[in-house]
Amino acid sequence: MTPILYIIIPCYNEEKVLPLTSSLFLEKLDELIQKDIISSQSRILFVNDGSKDKTWDIICSLAMQNEKYTGISQSRNRGHQNAVLAGLMEAKNHCDITISIDCDGQDDINAMNQMIEEYRKGSEIVYGIRSSRTTDTLFKRITAESFYKLLNWMGAEVVFNHADYRLVSSRVLNELANYKEVNIFLRGMIPLVGFKSTGVYYERHERLAGESHYPLKKMLALAFDGITSLSIKPIRMIACLGLFISFMSFLGVIWSVATQLTGKSVAGWASMTSIICFIGGVQMVCLGVLGEYIGKIYLEVKARPRYIISDRTSDKKHDAEIF
Ligand code: UDP
Ligand code: MG
Repeated sequence: MTPILYIIIPCYNEEKVLPLTSSLFLEKLDELIQKDIISSQSRILFVNDGSKDKTWDIICSLAMQNEKYTGISQSRNRGHQNAVLAGLMEAKNHCDITISIDCDGQDDINAMNQMIEEYRKGSEIVYGIRSSRTTDTLFKRITAESFYKLLNWMGAEVVFNHADYRLVSSRVLNELANYKEVNIFLRGMIPLVGFKSTGVYYERHERLAGESHYPLKKMLALAFDGITSLSIKPIRMIACLGLFISFMSFLGVIWSVATQLTGKSVAGWASMTSIICFIGGVQMVCLGVLGEYIGKIYLEVKARPRYIISDRTSDKKHDAEIF
């Protein structure tokens, strides 16, 4: 039997690019249906992430034009990860497989054929991996590649050069639904679920229109979230640093007693001040990292909803039929 596919597309202020890419996604879906690779019940599911422009209106009019387009809207902007999660959770009961992809046309939609092929061969998760980053600016390439290296080094295991373009089966999604954390980093969480997985390589293009919503500040925030949500290595590093500093201080004590006893205790103000400043600085950094984890625990304990869906295109259609 051919699987039902849902393509999950997060959209935040994408009025410029959505009219261009939505038809490309539909062409792809139709092609896959015609080739009998996927079921005709397959859909394109847009997730409006609290956009402030006309994105939601565009999604609603697409849904009116063609039943293969559907959409949900988050009650406010919650970020890319939450938007993808909302889409995946919405889709999981209606389909056999999902493919999440950005709406800006950067990810090569032709890689979907191979992804589904890998699913047919038995993989439940297929990661879309960029084969090169030649279309990125040097700055983006360097920051993004160091991002993956830093994440892995810090203990958050992620697939190198894989963003959020991936096929995930509904079986995996049903298990993912049991991961209740509110600090979500899907790239790190999905490998934790397990199941047979593989990768598919693709070329990443430039954005078709509009601008990136991931400036350096957001990328750093994502990296920091990724590390602190998936690993406690930074806390261990603090403990090691603490031990090292204690050892150095112990040597310092011996040294100061020795200089006192040998009668050479002349004004050591400069060295004293620098040691105090250094230790003060290190302590502040360590407190900051600990605070970050405590903050995360606080958020998890509150267990607030991870996304709130305020509208669905299916409701609108229903309304239109009634009136
Ligand atoms: N996005 C989102 N919520 C946000 C920021 C981005 O849903 O708060 C979506 C955006 O519409 C796009 C995808 O996430 O489909 C990736 O964003 P973008 O292309 O800006 O990031 P980049 O590719 O530059 O890393
Ligand atoms: Mg993009």
